[in-house]
Amino acid sequence: MSHVNPEDAMPPAAVSAKVMQTEALELGFSQCVHAMERTLYATPVGWALAIWLVHGVVPRVNVLQWLALFFVGWCAGLLMLRRMSKAGPRFAKHRLGLLVVAGVDGMCWGSSVLLLMTHDQRVDAWLVIVLCGVVSVNAPTYITYPRAFRVLAAALWLTASASAVALRARFDVAPQLIAGLLVYLAMVVYTLRSISSRVIEGIRLQLENAALADQLRQSLVQVKHQASTDALTGQLNRRALDLALDGLIVEGDRRGRMFSLLMLDIDFFKHINDTHGHGVGDLALQSVAQRIAAQLRAGDLCARFGGEEFVMLLPSTDLVQACEVAERIRAKLEASPLATEPPLAITASIGVATYETGMSAEALLGAADREVYAAKRSGRNQVCPARPPRNS
Ligand code: GH3
Ligand code: MG
Ligand code: MG
Repeated sequence: MSHVNPEDAMPPAAVSAKVMQTEALELGFSQCVHAMERTLYATPVGWALAIWLVHGVVPRVNVLQWLALFFVGWCAGLLMLRRMSKAGPRFAKHRLGLLVVAGVDGMCWGSSVLLLMTHDQRVDAWLVIVLCGVVSVNAPTYITYPRAFRVLAAALWLTASASAVALRARFDVAPQLIAGLLVYLAMVVYTLRSISSRVIEGIRLQLENAALADQLRQSLVQVKHQASTDALTGQLNRRALDLALDGLIVEGDRRGRMFSLLMLDIDFFKHINDTHGHGVGDLALQSVAQRIAAQLRAGDLCARFGGEEFVMLLPSTDLVQACEVAERIRAKLEASPLATEPPLAITASIGVATYETGMSAEALLGAADREVYAAKRSGRNQVCPARPPRNS
């Protein structure tokens, strides 16, 4: 019999919500571990307060027993919490450990009834107040994992109640203490529960927002890339070429930086389409684009200008250097057949123009285009540089 995972049957949105909820609980759990660690570090303040209250009233042996018991529980709790924080994302494995730490903490505080009370009514009253204070101070620590707080409260109440029952012969107010503590703890547990579910929901929403923002960022990068890239060849598209050209012209006019432009048109490309089909023609275009790009420097740009025409922008390059680059590209295209099926021998005609201050983008493109046609007229498979402008 095949086993069907219930998540496979859920719609993706429900699965994602469930994952977020689990992540929120996990994060809540880890926050609780860190908060407990901090609270445990502050516990000695509680000891000092209790010792100060019982000093001179409670036999020293009782105080030392209480302190020793607490110290052992405290060290063990801190060690366990340290291990849990280092475990990183494997917090889920440590749930039981955290409950044990909370339970031991509750028992240690509850043991103060057994070891520190029944010696003086006034001190007993203060100790009950300290117990309630400890519970109140601890409550926010467990806001993201209230189950541990319930364990702490239960352990504290059971230990305190058992102690009160054991000492009832010399403890007039045992029933009141048991009932009073129960009511108080139940109230704190109840309040914490409702706030906690809202905190976890907040964490879930935070995670969801972060995931959405991440998705949006990725989509934006993708859209930006698509808006400036030619889908077939992966080179810049016409729009991106226009923007880059405008940018270089502004730089050229402001800072006098020269640049050159190559316009390349594949020779007899129509013949390839007619003989081998458009599919092979497309592969040939991709292959040509790769060969061109391989000949350019890091700062140079290559764009698909139209059908089987490419334009290259070469910053900080004069006409002579640009002609060398154009010749290199022409020679590489001619050197060996393209890696298409069947392999295709191909050549290209290239027009070269260099920017001069005051020229428009259209004028520069027009100058290179004229040279492409000059190259075609002169027999194709050659590089033709534009005549230097009249004002140079
Ligand atoms: P010439 O040497 O005079 O340039 O000859 P040619 O055959 O290359 O002529 P032209 O440049 O006018 O031909 C362009 C051809 O490019 C026509 C069209 O079928 C083809 N073409 C344009 N865009 C694409 C494309 O995206 N894919 C394919 N496979 N072919 C394209
Ligand atoms: Mg053409
Ligand atoms: Mg052509």
